[in-house]
Amino acid sequence: SVEVVISARVAPLGDGLVVIVAEDLTAARRVEATRRDFVANVSHELKTPIGAVALLAEALEGAADDPQAVHRFAARLSVESQRLSDLVQQIIDLSRLQADDPLANTEPVDIDDVVQTAIDRCRVDAERRDIAVTVGGERGCKVAGSRDQLIVAVGNLVENAIIYSDTGARVAVAASRVSRGGVEAVEITVSDNGIGISRSDLERIFERFYRVDFGRSRANGGTGLGLAIVKHIAASHGGDVSVWSQLGQGSTFTINLPVTAGSAADLDPDLGPH
Ligand code: ADP
Repeated sequence: SVEVVISARVAPLGDGLVVIVAEDLTAARRVEATRRDFVANVSHELKTPIGAVALLAEALEGAADDPQAVHRFAARLSVESQRLSDLVQQIIDLSRLQADDPLANTEPVDIDDVVQTAIDRCRVDAERRDIAVTVGGERGCKVAGSRDQLIVAVGNLVENAIIYSDTGARVAVAASRVSRGGVEAVEITVSDNGIGISRSDLERIFERFYRVDFGRSRANGGTGLGLAIVKHIAASHGGDVSVWSQLGQGSTFTINLPVTAGSAADLDPDLGPH
């Protein structure tokens, strides 16, 4: 729905003119609603690990005479506090992204370096799950943008591909030059043959805090923010992110980035307050 406020006042010059102003408040209301939802979601997401930490601390106190129990509770305490810290970090990353204009300080970014650095950051999880991450496609692609942000975006996709695949699976990352509607762009694809995503979930996975399999996401430290961050970074580079997926077969995420930075003005309004 569209919300328009119309107000009328007598013109300041006092010559009998009435000025009528129509203001479209729709966009402002939407930003406000998104902000409210975000705060509600953040509070909800923080309450779970904070509650767990409090319970575990209590359990630890009660288990003082049982070294094995102490060990068990302490290990869980450390998992929960890591989770809290990851969540807070991602919330900070997201709000920082929303505050900065990455195109204000663009640099030529080497995509080979972005891909390799992103994969290196996922090495621990890949090794733990015995997943080989391969790099293919064209070498030497470059775009204008923020190296740090692009590493975060590709890293989030690789991390997901690892988490939502079975042990021993493969993940493939590739870059290629494409021309879309006459605009030179670089496409980075991250493919897995993991669990896949159903059609109805596909529409929602880029929303903040949306998770299909809460247990699996949580067990791997997922926050439900990873893809929202990817979407934001792609959009702020004038590009986008899309996904192909089939349940039980796997997923391919594609980030498309114009070679010369586009306009950051058309940021997705759903992505929240600035
Ligand atoms: P999370 O922190 O939970 O991984 P994301 O925003 O990165 O959050 O992803 C949202 C949800 O999308 C995940 O919880 C998962 O259910 C689904 N998802 C993301 N990537 C994949 C993938 N490669 N394969 C299957 N499901 C995926």
